[in-house]
Amino acid sequence: MRHILSYTRQELKAKLTELGLKPFRTKQLWDWVHVRGVVDFDLMDNLPKRERLILAENFSSFLPTITAEQHASDGVIKWLFKMEDGHEVESVFIPEATRGTLCISSQVGCTLTCRFCHTGTQGLSRNLSTEEIVLQVWMARSRIDDWQGRDKPRKISNIVFMGMGEPLYNKDNVFTSCHIFMDEHGMGYGSRKITISTSGVVPEIPAIGEELGVNLAISIHASNNETRTKIMPINNKYDLGQLIESVKAFRLKETRKITWEYIMLDGINDSEEDAKALVKLLDGIPSMVNLIPFNPWPGSPYKPSTTENITKFYKKLQRLGMIAVIRKTRGEDILAACGQLRSETSKRNTVSLEFPTVVDVYGTEAQKQRIKVEITGAEA
Ligand code: SAH
Ligand code: SF4
Repeated sequence: MRHILSYTRQELKAKLTELGLKPFRTKQLWDWVHVRGVVDFDLMDNLPKRERLILAENFSSFLPTITAEQHASDGVIKWLFKMEDGHEVESVFIPEATRGTLCISSQVGCTLTCRFCHTGTQGLSRNLSTEEIVLQVWMARSRIDDWQGRDKPRKISNIVFMGMGEPLYNKDNVFTSCHIFMDEHGMGYGSRKITISTSGVVPEIPAIGEELGVNLAISIHASNNETRTKIMPINNKYDLGQLIESVKAFRLKETRKITWEYIMLDGINDSEEDAKALVKLLDGIPSMVNLIPFNPWPGSPYKPSTTENITKFYKKLQRLGMIAVIRKTRGEDILAACGQLRSETSKRNTVSLEFPTVVDVYGTEAQKQRIKVEITGAEA
């Protein structure tokens, strides 16, 4: 049985017709699920009892169990959501002064073995379904009480596919999820509020512009093929030349820039010559370079660049006319920072956990009780 959260609005309408319900129920149902954050058919009191029973019989209303919820000292929250088959998926909430970003996963693990990435050491377990991608946002919004209606500012204002996995190797489910997030009668996230980050799956890149129009972030991390191949094996398949070509084919909306993610690895890619080569490579593309301090993890083969080298690199980019920012590392104390996600139970015992005493969950008591929290990682 499919989950109600896996349907686009058009699909839901067709399904309701198939079940003998009136098409106008779509809007009511959509409002309950995506605006009010209620998936229990039993609670949908503007639907006749008989129809609620039909819905309950024909849709799965599974909710993941939260097996860990860690709060970092800087307000970052990391969740591990246990899916129906037992696989765990990580999502991270990053609050900032003017926005709140939810970083979500597209796969359990990843097939690409970027050498600096903790997720990459885990291998791929499987792709996430549309339901599991949408559930991450739905669950996070429920946990932080973020169902305040469409017109009020929301705590999760932005969604980024920068958690575990390569989104373009799970393109269909990632794209359908984006359509659901962007539906104007539902969650209504604007295309500027969603970012897909890719390590460079060249053939799929233009479709992000053509089919979705969301922001594109590319993990470039090096300005020559030799270094890039060393740290990102995908460069053997699609090299920098092909990558740049595909980005040029990406239909950029006016004023929209491509974000280039560049991880700063000591002595590997962090010289001023590298900065110069990067600017040359990106010539002609409206760009923003995001310099990412490397977040080490147990056993990682690289060292983070020194603050001095990061600053030099940054200044060099600026002098050459490139817009750049140095990303602030968030959630470090709970291994929630970029590249540190790895859904292994064993790992959870190695970090210090601070569990919240109270996090208010939206909804009636009945709905609150359906979100099960089973913290299992706190043992010494
Ligand atoms: N697979 C996609 C999206 C997930 S990775 C991609 O590679 O773009 C999200 C971001 O985290 C990427 O830019 C990735 O390069 C970065 N990242 C991976 N490991 C990291 C680490 N140890 N420290 C900092 N950033 C890292
Ligand atoms: Fe996969 Fe992205 Fe990590 Fe590379 S950086 S291993 S593509 S998740």
